[in-house]
Amino acid sequence: MTLQSEDLTFATHAPATNAEYARYPIAGSIEVAAAVASARSAASWWSARTAEERCATLLAWNRLIVSRIDEAAALIVAEGGKPESDARLEITLAIDHLAWAAKNAGRYLAPSRRSPGLLMMNMSATVEHAPLGVVGVIGPWNYPIFTPMGSIAYALAAGNTVVFKPSQYTPGIGVWLANTLREVVPEHALLSTITGEAMTGEELCKSAVDKIAFTGSTRTAKKVAATCAESLKPLIAECGGKDAVIIAADANVKDAAENTLWAAMSNAGQTCIAAERVYVHEKVADEFIRLITAEAKNVKAGTSYGAATMPSQIGIIASHIDDALNKGGVALVGGRESVQAPYVSPVILAEVPEDSTAVTEETFGPTLVINRVKSMDEAIAKSNALRYGLGASVWSKRHGSKIASQLHAGMVSINSVLAFAAVPSVPFGGVGDSGYGRIHGPEGLREFTYARSVIKPRYKSPIQFTTFRRTKKTDNIIAGLVKILFGR
Ligand code: NAD
Repeated sequence: MTLQSEDLTFATHAPATNAEYARYPIAGSIEVAAAVASARSAASWWSARTAEERCATLLAWNRLIVSRIDEAAALIVAEGGKPESDARLEITLAIDHLAWAAKNAGRYLAPSRRSPGLLMMNMSATVEHAPLGVVGVIGPWNYPIFTPMGSIAYALAAGNTVVFKPSQYTPGIGVWLANTLREVVPEHALLSTITGEAMTGEELCKSAVDKIAFTGSTRTAKKVAATCAESLKPLIAECGGKDAVIIAADANVKDAAENTLWAAMSNAGQTCIAAERVYVHEKVADEFIRLITAEAKNVKAGTSYGAATMPSQIGIIASHIDDALNKGGVALVGGRESVQAPYVSPVILAEVPEDSTAVTEETFGPTLVINRVKSMDEAIAKSNALRYGLGASVWSKRHGSKIASQLHAGMVSINSVLAFAAVPSVPFGGVGDSGYGRIHGPEGLREFTYARSVIKPRYKSPIQFTTFRRTKKTDNIIAGLVKILFGR
């Protein structure tokens, strides 16, 4: 990305050739405030629609996206550099999430009745889920439609409007999303996209939005959290990961090898929930390594996946490979020479010390570390040793659920990889350095609401205590009740 301060625009480039693709305006505080103000006035209209009306509008938008999938895929390929088939798969997942959020918001956000308890038995108690107002969404470049849609669709379905700041590397699809929704609802700015880099994102965090849904690196999330703290703005932080794959002695090793390779290398390894480290039981380690290294020979940078989208990541990938090899790791597939900017060919490393950056830090490249373990307890302890806790994958015919339940991670796929991202009904998010808050599923819908408790009397209670006329007799009845209810 190049900034031209004189005309306040920036350019995007095709990752493989560095050829300029398009120019976009850089939104400053004035443009951000204007977008938030339009979203605010649209929010009063949108929040007053019924859940059925909102569902109909969002499904109409979804149909438009389906009918223009070629256009969307071309934009993602041009700016992000991934193969067209991957771009289509990504859009398909985004479409699935939008449909789920639209169809299920009414059900999961409907007011619910609560028991008022014996002391307040004359009251009816209800909890409503009210929209927050305007949600600011800040997105990354690696899945430029799927990732932000996890916030945009759920925020809109919950009755909010959205101001979206896409990554400066892939703004095209973000602009396209706002334009297509505007075709469905021309009168109201349900979704506005503002373009720019870090400064624009910071302005959005400082603006009058009611919540920020951020997806990006842990480092940036800490800055975003600090900015949001100034106005006590709530934040969802979807950050990086260093996902572990655990392969037990009773695993289907062939399936584990084939799927783990894809989870590590697809999208050039630029996936927050990519497989980055494997802990394989020593009894099946040789077979697993034989199968995955053979399979890796068919995976080619430039065809199986594209160039690294962000040029600066190349140096990080190279440094992790160097660190692993310098500390005694062994290269089973590729090595330092696999890094040929803007491409990185598959790299599989083994016997890498647990304190190497190749094990401890997010590499975000087509690399995989495979370390042998003597037991599943050792695999679990090593998986849980990092501050990251996003996703994980477990391969075992009989003990998958038991192992999964001990992992310090927000999401676990058993005998599968990355599958949780494609199931709209389950929440997506991490713990520790992988962030907090959840998108997707009922939990994701509720993130974009606040709970409003509504209490009203069904009949007049003989015990009146919210009055200065409270009598000694009332005090005695309350004291007696407390003894009966809680004193035994
Ligand atoms: P990044 O942190 O560099 O940028 C993310 C977004 O934040 C961009 O739009 C950027 O312009 C904006 N930004 C930068 N500085 C800002 C600031 N000070 N205030 C406000 N906004 C600011 O991340 P990236 O390189 O675009 O994305 C890759 C990272 O995202 C990886 O770490 C990956 O694991 C993570 N990721 C996480 C998930 C998830 O759901 N957990 C999904 C996809 C990607």
